Amino acid sequence: MRVLVLGAGVIGTTAAYFLTRDGHDVTVIERQAGAGLETSFANGGIVSAYTAKPWASPTVPKTLLKNLFREDAPYLFRLRPDLQQWAWALKFLSNCRAEPFARGQKVSRRLGAYSFAQLKAVREAEGIEYDARAEGMIELYQDAESLAAADAFARRLPDDGRHPQVLDMKSTIEVEPALEDQRDTYAGSLFFSQEETGDAHKFTKNLAAATVGHGADFRYGETLTRLIRDGRRITGVETDKATYEAEAVVVSLGSFGPRFLRRVGVKMPIYPMKGYSVTVPTAGHNGAPTHGIHDIPRRIVLSRLGDRLRCAGTAELTGYNPAITPGRVDAILRDTMRLFPNAGDPSQAERWMGFRPMTPDCVPIIGKTDLDGLYLDTGHGSTGWTWSCGSGRLIADIVAGREPEIDMTGLEPARF
Ligand SMILES: Cc1cc2nc3c(=O)[nH]c(=O)nc-3n(C[C@H](O)[C@H](O)[C@H](O)COP(=O)(O)OP(=O)(O)OC[C@H]3O[C@@H](n4cnc5c(N)ncnc54)[C@H](O)[C@@H]3O)c2cc1C
Repeated sequence: MRVLVLGAGVIGTTAAYFLTRDGHDVTVIERQAGAGLETSFANGGIVSAYTAKPWASPTVPKTLLKNLFREDAPYLFRLRPDLQQWAWALKFLSNCRAEPFARGQKVSRRLGAYSFAQLKAVREAEGIEYDARAEGMIELYQDAESLAAADAFARRLPDDGRHPQVLDMKSTIEVEPALEDQRDTYAGSLFFSQEETGDAHKFTKNLAAATVGHGADFRYGETLTRLIRDGRRITGVETDKATYEAEAVVVSLGSFGPRFLRRVGVKMPIYPMKGYSVTVPTAGHNGAPTHGIHDIPRRIVLSRLGDRLRCAGTAELTGYNPAITPGRVDAILRDTMRLFPNAGDPSQAERWMGFRPMTPDCVPIIGKTDLDGLYLDTGHGSTGWTWSCGSGRLIADIVAGREPEIDMTGLEPARF
């Protein structure tokens, strides 16, 4: 079958890989000069197969209210005269209740475990190099109550050998000696030994090359202008350079999908949740961690990517403005160096921003739309790197008309 994949972020690229391996004639269209150069470029690097949960949780409204006027707040809603933003924010808040949160968490875990298995299969099959580490992730807690509550929460979920170890700071430092200076800062940690870390951009770039090797065509530097519709069927796309026909079109345009789909009458509640990262070179220094780290009070994640330390965080609902707010990104750098003073040279840090493509229930949209030939694999929000390979496998199964290997409840486009 002739298939077009729109967007070469980590999501479009993994979809293209599985579709190509299925024997389809695949063309990927991407406006950037290479794969993984927008939101998939410098994310937190955590493959959080078991710890990911929806951001729309019952504690969020209180946190938002408490931090309403704080510029360095981890969550910041800058409401603007933008109907789409207000509609999204209301839907997101309506998901901040116990029942939708529990539902979303089930979906996250199902997709997370499946994606983890697919990631392992892809890297074994293709020998993809991406500064991967399989040392686990440490969640740091400031006080004994929040540590105990988080442990109790983790234990409510089925174990499957994945329940965390509860560590005091002495044991945490034995696991991750780079935390030595934090002995008195935190009460302890949860150690999830099976989580991994890795560079999403390297993975995407190298997987795109492998996919080309399997016969796909990646058209870089082409901007999509519209979907071509013939009655109830999508028959192709137009770009600023050419027209392409196809029997199936998979949309993986991150935060930019809704604008594009609206013109053919497909509504998709995805809104950009801006975040930042800093990347500090570690060469010549010996104080950077090797485990994934999640500093729960500061809501930042850190991962060691070869000779770099990446730290990412903050969530800003502020539309499509790509400006980097110095105060917010500098706070992340300060936290990195506070945690790991000997990790590297902060004056060499690279600052970055990305738009997380968030759905109001914080789980992606994977499946067929009401229009024949039009499929969605998008809306992966804060966890797209983790969920990429599973999503790619699932959309390839759906395009082929095969039964996906996991229950798709909670992921289907029709839920919105
Ligand atoms: C600060 C931050 C930290 C994060 N940390 C983690 C983490 O630790 N672990 C994790 O699992 N996830 C993390 N994420 C989430 C993850 O990075 C995203 O979910 C993921 O990158 C989304 O991938 P995507 O392919 O959907 O979007 P993108 O990577 O943005 O890809 C979409 C592509 O579509 C292209 N495009 C858009 N419009 C057009 C057009 N008109 N024509 C042609 N091409 C177009 C874009 O150029 C882009 O390349 C983080 C995100 C951020 C911002």
